[in-house]
Amino acid sequence: MKSNIPLIFEKGFDGEQQSFVPQMDVDMVDLNEILPENLQRKDLPIPNIPEVDIIRHFINLSLRNYGVDTGIYPLGSCTMKYNPKVNEVVAKLPGFTFIHPLQEESEGCLELLYHLSKLLGELTGMDGFTLQPAAGAHGELVGLLIMKKYFEIKGLKKQKIIVPDSAHGTNPASAKMAGFSIIELKSNEHGEVPLDQLEFAMLEGDIAGIMLTNPNTLGIFDKQIKDITRIVHDNGGLCYYDGANLNPMLGICRPRDMGFDIVHLNLHKTFSTPHGGGGPGSGPIGVVNELIPFLPEPCLISTKQGIACREKNDVSIGRIKAFWGNFGVIIRAYAYILALGAEGLKKVAQIAVLNANYLKVQLQQKYYLPYNRVCQHEFVLSDQGMPNNVTTEDIAKRILDFGIYAPTIYFPLIIPGALMIEPTETESKQSLDYFVEVMNQIYDEAKSNSVLLRNAPHNTPVKRLDAVLAARKPVLHD
Ligand SMILES: *Cc1c(COP(=O)(O)O)cnc(C)c1O
Repeated sequence: MKSNIPLIFEKGFDGEQQSFVPQMDVDMVDLNEILPENLQRKDLPIPNIPEVDIIRHFINLSLRNYGVDTGIYPLGSCTMKYNPKVNEVVAKLPGFTFIHPLQEESEGCLELLYHLSKLLGELTGMDGFTLQPAAGAHGELVGLLIMKKYFEIKGLKKQKIIVPDSAHGTNPASAKMAGFSIIELKSNEHGEVPLDQLEFAMLEGDIAGIMLTNPNTLGIFDKQIKDITRIVHDNGGLCYYDGANLNPMLGICRPRDMGFDIVHLNLHKTFSTPHGGGGPGSGPIGVVNELIPFLPEPCLISTKQGIACREKNDVSIGRIKAFWGNFGVIIRAYAYILALGAEGLKKVAQIAVLNANYLKVQLQQKYYLPYNRVCQHEFVLSDQGMPNNVTTEDIAKRILDFGIYAPTIYFPLIIPGALMIEPTETESKQSLDYFVEVMNQIYDEAKSNSVLLRNAPHNTPVKRLDAVLAARKPVLHD
């Protein structure tokens, strides 16, 4: 569907424009004289537009964006929380923004990198960290390459990774990319890993280990986690923890204590960097002592003279990102952790869990909740039993009419018609109550006026897309 905002090039018109800038009174170089003929464009359609119209054009475009700063964003497994602006201010300090990674006098920045690694070590229980990976999925790949190298050095052929069906989609994708094949484990009726099947799968012998998210994408904390990691270890495997959404665990529970050997964190989810739309992220990897030599280069260590790079070694998986990773994201995480402190971070976890459970209890009165347990940072409803066969897509589209972003839909795949809701710790009770009110109204509309839902959204600039036509005949540009 064509947007009804014209392109900036369509807005120009002939004639003199009001100008707020005084006419230039210095001699200008005539570009036509110095540019070779073949580099000159005779026809350059720069629109003739007054300043005020340009400002209105771009401000109006910006108002069509939806973001965490606009309203509630309950997109499950994405931790779309509000990020304190003070961390933006810190990341923009000139000492950080004007430094070059090859500059000699960068001790302060190296200290920051090293100290953040230590803080993440405290939070996860891991002995060593790299801050280089540029996103969660990139961290997963790095973690798996470390696993691979670890077994190669030991002369063991381990070619498979166990991934439960409740895992984030990036887990099997990363395992495949690292050259492993995947054994999928079906969750049991409690949404947990079935121990007997895990034991059975491990018997295959060439299993490198398991990738697990705990709490998983159902928002459920697997209480048998220590048995799971023990079974994998007893059979010679390693345990990888997907800590993209660490909110509910901060200061409460550490992946190391659950028995994990490798963990990735998403600084852009849990630790205060706005994300979405493909902006820069950071997916640090933490490992236990035995795996530290495998971490990518360069790797920071503390010496008597200060922070320095460790000597090159033969087993490191090598370099995986230019310089030190996405430094701006790293600064924000550092500022966020220091500002909140141990108590503040624990409170983040408690409120993330409280908010999700508050919503769950309210919404399960009308909506179907397949796994009815105390949840962690998120929970999953489904469209089963909706009046008039209203679907998850209808609900998600209708939510947009109320100025709220839709939850994650049709994921995790183990729940047909899933609506995955993560309110995060930064929503107030008032905004949670508004969300409940909207969801209740939508349920009532499903009963009384389901056509309204099937044609939603009604208030957004772009209405419901024809998904079938879009798939068959994609029009990718104007
Ligand atoms: C978001 C997420 C990832 C992937 O992180 P990216 O930064 O998007 O690559 C992996 N696992 C879980 C559980 C996630 O929520």
